[in-house]
Amino acid sequence: MSDTNTQSADTPALADKPVRVRFAPSPTGTLHLGGARTAIYNWAFARKHGGDFILRIDDTDKKRSTPENVAQILEALSWLGIDWDEGPQADGNITGDYGPYYQTQRADSYRKALDKMISSGACYRCFCTAEELTTKRDAARKVGGNPGYDRTCRDIDSVISQSRADNEESFVWRLRVPKDRTSVIVNDLVRGKIEFPIEAIDDLVLARTDGTPLYNFANTVDDLDMGITHLIRGDDHLSNTPKQILIFEALAGPESVPEFAHLSMIYGSDGKKLSKRHGAVGVEEYATLGFLPDALLNGLALLGWSLDAETTIISPETLKSEFSLERVSKNPARFDMAKLEHVNSVYIQEMSADNFTQAMLPWLINADLTTQEDYESRPEWYLELAPLISERIKLMTEVVPLAHFLFLDDIEIDEKARSKALDKDPETVRTILIAVQNALENLDDFNLENIEAALKDLPVQLDLKPRVVFQALRATISGSLVSPPLFESIALLGKKRTLQRLFAVLNA
Ligand code: GLU
Repeated sequence: MSDTNTQSADTPALADKPVRVRFAPSPTGTLHLGGARTAIYNWAFARKHGGDFILRIDDTDKKRSTPENVAQILEALSWLGIDWDEGPQADGNITGDYGPYYQTQRADSYRKALDKMISSGACYRCFCTAEELTTKRDAARKVGGNPGYDRTCRDIDSVISQSRADNEESFVWRLRVPKDRTSVIVNDLVRGKIEFPIEAIDDLVLARTDGTPLYNFANTVDDLDMGITHLIRGDDHLSNTPKQILIFEALAGPESVPEFAHLSMIYGSDGKKLSKRHGAVGVEEYATLGFLPDALLNGLALLGWSLDAETTIISPETLKSEFSLERVSKNPARFDMAKLEHVNSVYIQEMSADNFTQAMLPWLINADLTTQEDYESRPEWYLELAPLISERIKLMTEVVPLAHFLFLDDIEIDEKARSKALDKDPETVRTILIAVQNALENLDDFNLENIEAALKDLPVQLDLKPRVVFQALRATISGSLVSPPLFESIALLGKKRTLQRLFAVLNA
């Protein structure tokens, strides 16, 4: 792939127009993986081309849109590390000169656009009632005809149309789909050329009697007003595209039509469209499941886009500098949880001790194991702990089970550890723990080096297998058979708590 190719395939209009793209969620629910991927591609595309990324809230569905969903969407995007130049920001401010950025606040724009369409004759009043339309549609279906609108009202004389409206007959405004062309062509930047025959495009409803716009009209007016150059969105919107193109053309001429890039659906591992059935679909659920934002961003970016044939770890910086629509696949992407977990583990392992400490702290604090103050009073202790944990986990949810024993005075020894390492041969365990006690009791400097020197030869001294000795000790110290390395754990636990744990098992 050469740079020249990227340029020409992505952005035929780039040379003369700075890129402006938008993510336009309908806040009828929280941010899902599919929406997040659309947002990521728009954002990366804008960043790559030094353009603007706009967040618009498509809240025309007033009943199902809620401020809570808007807040959640902004939070989920911010959590992913996505920033936007225009639109409502997470801090409550609104940035940008092309607002309002909520559709419910844009009635004036829609009215102006509708008036323009009315005066140019690009739309007409349709007085057909809902019952009439249903009857006609059913009749057309029965004879295998076109169930679309039969254009009964298209040629009503304008004076008559006006007088029926004046008599308060209710009506809608329909687009006058041009008859003098054969098709609408979309040169999709992902899917290539798609041709929609003109007879398949209905005279769609643009607005109601009172001028309130319907979805396709509102969207197109917004995209036009906001100077959007590329519409990058899910291919569930593909059927809207020819209608929107006709509206763009009617309002502002063919040059006003943006470029389109339709993204293929995301499927679950079973090949069906990704949904709740496949597990978590909300971005915030992934935070709870223990994914790091950069890892989820990376995983979502790869659902349909690739840097090359093999790279699987892509930082936000690389995404912003290398993203190209040319490398977006038109084939459906498959969401694979195991792959995402792998990506997450790579991010975890590659984090510096300091960064991992910062990522780990909220989990420890939420589990009431520690406090911010404790961290601030002994940051070096946390920096020592960090690599011991990060090397062993795939998900941040594993931090607490792995580290909790280091923060508690008393621990529960789990069933498996008890039965496998302690209860099988209590006499031997006694011998081991007493030997450990003796070896550690007199250590003045309770550091890793001294602990290791004091304990490493115990198996030889006791004539026991290392596994037997260290498993009993691990179970006693951590309450589990799985823990960070033993000597390090003992050093982090400190002398007092270590001796307490030996005592607790010896005196149980
Ligand atoms: N509001 C639409 C949605 O959430 C997006 C519209 C568009 O991208 O054109 O699906």
